[in-house]
Amino acid sequence: MGVREAREVLKQYFGYDQFRPGQEDIITNVLEKRDTVVLMPTGGGKSVCYQVPGLVMPGLSVVVSPLIALMKDQVEALLGNGVNAGYLNSSQSAKEQQLIEQQCFDGRMQMLYVSPEKLLSAGFFSFLKRLQINLFAIDEAHCISAWGHDFRPEYLQLKNLKLQFPEVPIIALTATADRLTQRDILTQLYLQDPKVFISSFDRPNIYLQVQPGQKRMEGILDFLEERPFQPGIIYCLSRKATESLAAKLKEKGYNADYYHAGLSARDRENVQEKFLQDNIQIMCATIAFGMGIDKSNVRWVIHYNLPKNLESYYQEIGRGGRDGAPAEALLFYSLADVMTLRDIVTNGESSKEQALSLAKLDRMQQFAESTSCRRKTLMHYFGEEYSKDCGNCDICDNPPTSFNGTELAQKILSAVARTKETVASAQVVDILRGSRNQLTLTRGYDQLKTFGAGRDVPSQDWQRYIHQLINQGILEVAYDEHGALKLTNASQDVLFKGKKVELVKFQAPLPKEEKEKRQ
Ligand code: ADP
Ligand code: ZN
Repeated sequence: MGVREAREVLKQYFGYDQFRPGQEDIITNVLEKRDTVVLMPTGGGKSVCYQVPGLVMPGLSVVVSPLIALMKDQVEALLGNGVNAGYLNSSQSAKEQQLIEQQCFDGRMQMLYVSPEKLLSAGFFSFLKRLQINLFAIDEAHCISAWGHDFRPEYLQLKNLKLQFPEVPIIALTATADRLTQRDILTQLYLQDPKVFISSFDRPNIYLQVQPGQKRMEGILDFLEERPFQPGIIYCLSRKATESLAAKLKEKGYNADYYHAGLSARDRENVQEKFLQDNIQIMCATIAFGMGIDKSNVRWVIHYNLPKNLESYYQEIGRGGRDGAPAEALLFYSLADVMTLRDIVTNGESSKEQALSLAKLDRMQQFAESTSCRRKTLMHYFGEEYSKDCGNCDICDNPPTSFNGTELAQKILSAVARTKETVASAQVVDILRGSRNQLTLTRGYDQLKTFGAGRDVPSQDWQRYIHQLINQGILEVAYDEHGALKLTNASQDVLFKGKKVELVKFQAPLPKEEKEKRQ
């Protein structure tokens, strides 16, 4: 049994002449009866990785899949390809199940899909013991990790597979696994000397960019103006925001519409179809939009709000540039969003889940505030080696330079002190810039000595400096006080002892035409 048989099976049952990169090594490893972990992005071709060796080796392959709805489709597709496949789950009648079991006993069944519930149900292991099992495939293996976004407690019981069937190789497959999830997959399944195959998750054609979230409407309009008629998606946190954003864009003459789970199924299908057929240019949507939508020419994805973790972010920007042509991802980032998300997270989840979600939100925030190549940060999060800078993100374009920012830091800190540590970053910026708005005027902040002390620095830069001070522990955010900035011991040193502060400066991004000229 080897690669030659595997190629024959690939051709015979699936009609393909060649393996995709990665598939062959994975299959060879399985055929050697070794435990295998496969991390491959959606659409990468994971199924072939267990189906082909399962069909090459004599006996029955058992595939554990949590998605009952997909099980049926997969089995039908296999049957259509001439593979004798079946499934067992709680949605079937006893009679249907018996029929499938009989085929397993007869040795006719080649590939059996089961839900984890079914696998763990009473008597099922003794049923399996009477069969010749050649492989266990665990699909959506990230469900085993409490750190993953899709934790299923039943998956923890899958460790019994190795305990009960030590001779049968296991292949675990997933499209989303950061380092911690990977580790959980290896340990929780009791895999023996497993080999881990990571196909790159990188989408090098997507330009990654983060902008401070103040004035995002202006930011969006500027962005759109430079990209006429390019289809794109703007993700918003709330349903209401999708509607009002679409309305504003329409007012400006853009062909925009909105999509969220509050619409009727019919309306949703309707706008989705229009977007697919390029009859809507801009889709303002909640995260409900995009799953299973295959539109290859989405040229950009904007996050109006910060996503709650990097998995969501990456999945959402991944809807851009599927055709491989250049695409862009623009994320707006503000501390106000972080606060909203913290509220959402700390409402209604158990304390363990909360801690996890908050930790993930922190990683998201770190990414937004990153001062080194964004793709590097992202790929490291997903556990990939990535040593060079990508050359296709805002940081690579404008590498920040560090400078002595003590004076700027002092201005920020003294504005915080003079407002008695009661105001959030956006208001601190207003004070420094000397903006006469309702808040600064009613509270008399225009009388402060620091009012207008930083007119020469653009507000986006002030925001970034504040984030950097927070990251350096020179300021703190009180999330339970509407994000009021607080002084720390380190701030006292800066204010009163002249402690030096290094800040990082971002150059203004080059205008698009200029960028193209230089390429
Ligand atoms: P995943 O489970 O990783 O999301 P699938 O297993 O559904 O991906 O495969 C995605 C698509 O790629 C399917 O249409 C599949 O038939 C196709 N595919 C997989 N392997 C190959 C191959 N070696 N050659 C051509 N197409 C392939
Ligand atoms: Zn980069």
